[in-house]
Formats: sequence, structure tokens, C-alpha cells
Amino acid sequence: MLTGLTIAEAAAGLRAKKFTAEELCLAHLNAIEALNPRLNAYLTVSHSQALDQAKAADAALARGDAGPLAGIPLAIKDLFCTQGIRTTAASKILGPFVPPYESTVTANLLRDGAVFLGKTNLDEFAMGSSNMTSAYGPVENPWKRRQNPDAVLVPGGSSGGSAAAVSAQLAMGGTGTDTGGSIRQPASFCGIVGMKPTYGRCSRWGVVAFASSLDHPGPFARTVQDTAILLRSMSGYDAKDSTSADVPVPDFAAACGRGVRGLRIGIPREYRVDGMPAEIERLWQQGIVWLKDAGAEIVDVSLPHTRYGLAAYYVIAPAEASSNLARYDGVRFGLRTNGDDLRDLYERTRADGFGTEVKRRILIGTYVLSAGYYDAYYLRAQKVRALILRDFTDAFQNVDALLTPTAPSAAFGIDEKTDDPVTMYLNDVFTVNGNLAGIPGISVPAGLDTDGLPLGLQVLGKPFDEETVFAVGAEIERAAGFTALPTLRAGATQ
Ligand code: GLN
Repeated sequence: MLTGLTIAEAAAGLRAKKFTAEELCLAHLNAIEALNPRLNAYLTVSHSQALDQAKAADAALARGDAGPLAGIPLAIKDLFCTQGIRTTAASKILGPFVPPYESTVTANLLRDGAVFLGKTNLDEFAMGSSNMTSAYGPVENPWKRRQNPDAVLVPGGSSGGSAAAVSAQLAMGGTGTDTGGSIRQPASFCGIVGMKPTYGRCSRWGVVAFASSLDHPGPFARTVQDTAILLRSMSGYDAKDSTSADVPVPDFAAACGRGVRGLRIGIPREYRVDGMPAEIERLWQQGIVWLKDAGAEIVDVSLPHTRYGLAAYYVIAPAEASSNLARYDGVRFGLRTNGDDLRDLYERTRADGFGTEVKRRILIGTYVLSAGYYDAYYLRAQKVRALILRDFTDAFQNVDALLTPTAPSAAFGIDEKTDDPVTMYLNDVFTVNGNLAGIPGISVPAGLDTDGLPLGLQVLGKPFDEETVFAVGAEIERAAGFTALPTLRAGATQ
């Protein structure tokens, strides 16, 4: 099955002329046609553009000047602006928006020859952990519980569409964005690899903004090496993003084979949270044993401000979101609901265009930024953020990387956690601090729970040391030998 290949295998197969980019693209488009009506992972399938890109890749391969991603079919989170292709951020307010320009990250992927199959579903404006806040309906996780295969599970979020698509073999890899965990948590829920690089590594230009100081574009794929291949293409300095880092882009894939011998791996004791399922704790212990057996030294470390991370995140992220979302006024782009005067038009457009979770964040954000509350909430959260960064900086004096679980649970049912937003926010307990500190992190599938659902382990590293993160991630992947496949996938009999 062409759709079951890894990116590295497909790139080799294309060069060996075992199949063409057009055949690879068609295999994926057929798989999307068969499964997407159920999964709802893609909001837009860019059928004809994808075939044109595949044909161009075949021509480049024939000429011998093909880029590293020539002919590789990818799923693009519908938060990346794609020139001429509708970009919605899964919000009604951007429903009719067709960007006149291409985001830097997607432009970099196209430069290297990638084929874009379409735009994937997400939580509205990337606000959520389940994909259930999308204005275009939730995404179904292709994995099923062994005991109760009828229950519909969430793929995680916010980048749940890309994660479900890659897991179900409706794309070989994809893009996501991670503001508080939105690449790593859905990767864990869908049994694939998700990588959040260092802040500044991938340009944010042309990515619909949620919380600018926390937003990190990054890749999904089914192997660690494949995410490393994608990240290399996505990365690089961009003068159009004032926070883009002007640092060299290493060959991340080469780092995957480095091994972990001699590395010091920290185990943060504060990540042992109350109520965490025993099987997650067990998997974490297993990960420690794998790394030790491979020659790493395991070190107990303390990150004392960990427990304030979620609270700080849920002040800072809504504050930045409320400011970023002020631009959706019904005048410049997207939805417009006419009113009696300009103010009425603004109010009606925003009332009609934004969903409940987005409105909640705007209200929280404007509240914590308002005069009188700014010092008590926003400024205090920024101070906590500095302490969290200091915890990591101190820990990294002594260790090369940290190992933790990715999420406090496996994928949950679509109707299991919706009553109370705070329960949903707890999903991010292991991931948000990496965003507050801007450090790189990866989630690697490491095992199954008793229901047969995938669980990920997270590796966090020093700023701009993605190479060590990939090396440790690849060792976990090798030791785990994770080969389980989701119930719903391309080519599987339904
Ligand atoms: N779940 C978190 C939130 O709702 C993180 C989302 C993200 O990383 N985009 O804010």
C-alpha cells in the first residue's frame, strides 16, 4: 500500500521509479474520499492543485532537480494561509476567506516539492484539546477502544485533523501548530509522532495568530525520522516574522541515529500529577528503563514552578488571543453581518462569527488585560512564566533532555469531557510549560493502554537543540517497537 509508506521510504521509491508522485497522490486522494466523510479530518481537499503539484514533482524527478520532499503528500492544518485555497481556522468568521498569499512554512514545504492534499480541521482558532470547538464539526479519531468500538473518540487538539489524517494514512505527514500542546497531545492520542520545535525555529508569518508568544508551527508524521525530514524543510530565518531566529538549520534526520549513550536524561518529579492513570505512570517508568538500557544516565530533577504553568498559560494565551482576534471586525476579511451602524456591524459579525470557546477566551483575555486587573493577573502570569523558564534553564545545566508523559490520559470519548472547560484545560498539564519556555519537545508513540489506545512519551530539550530531542525520541521509538495501527485507515476493511 502506497499510503502506508513512510516519507523516507516514499522519497526513495520515487527516486527508484517504483511509482510516480501522481500515483502516490491519487492513492491518498482515494483514501481521503473513502474515509474523510466519516473522520472529517480535512475541511478542504485541494484535489486539482495536489495533482498539478504531483505532476510537477514527477517532472522535477525526471529532470534530476527534485527537492527533498518532491511528491510527498501532506496535510496542512487550516490555520496556515495557503494562496488561493480557503483558510478558515475552523471558524465561521473566516469561512469565506481565501488568502492572497502563502505562509512561510507552507511556502518552504512547496519549495522542497511537497504536495498539499488539503486543509485539515482543528479547534476553532486552535483553542481546544479535542477538536470539538471546530465550527465545521468534530474530527473522529481513527483509533477505537477494544471493548467498546462504537464509542467515537476525539483525536485531541487543536491540530486533530492533521493528526487523524496522518494516523489514518490519509497523508504521509502534516503540519500543526502548538500553543499549549496542540501538536504533541493529538500525536499522543492518534499514535503518531508530533514535534514542537524551539520558538523562532519555524516562522509564524501567514499562520493565523492565536497567542503570538506561544504559537509554534511544527510537523506530524508516523516516524521520528519523518518529522525530522519535514522540520528541516519547514525551518529557517524569515525576515517577515520579528521573532524568527537567525540560526543555522541542521540536518535533523541525521541526528535520529545518534543514540543516547552518555546523555543525561532528567525525570521531573513534579510531573507525577494526582489522578494520573497507573498505565501512564507505568509507561513513563518503561521509557526510563529503555533509555537507561541504551546507555543514558537517568537523573531526578525538580521543576518547582510546574504546577503554576496551566494557570499562567490560561491567562497569557487568552490575553494575546483577545488582542489578535480584534482584527475580525467584518470589514477587512471573512464574514460580515450588516448592522444599523458600524458598531452594530462589528458586534453582530463577532456574535455570529465566533463560537463559544473563542468568546470565552476573548472575555477572559480582555478581563485580565483591563486596567485594575492587569497587575493582578497578566503581569503576575508573566512573572510565573519567567520562573518556569528559569526552572528549565537550571535543569538543563545538569541534563541534556527531559522525559515525561505527553498527556494525562489516552483519547477520550467525544461526549466525555465537555461539561466543564477547566477539565478540558487539564489535558495540557504536561505540554504548556514547554510553550511558556519556548523549548523543543516531541511526542513519540510508546505503547497502548488496556483499551488498546495509543499513549505517547514526551521528550523536552534545550532551546535550539532539537537534534538531541530527535535522538532521544528515535531511541524511544526503536525500543518501543510501536507497530499498532488504528482501526480506521486507508486500505483497511471497514
Ligand atoms: N489546549 C490548549 C488550548 O486550548 C492548547 C491549544 C494549542 O496548543 N493550540 O489553549
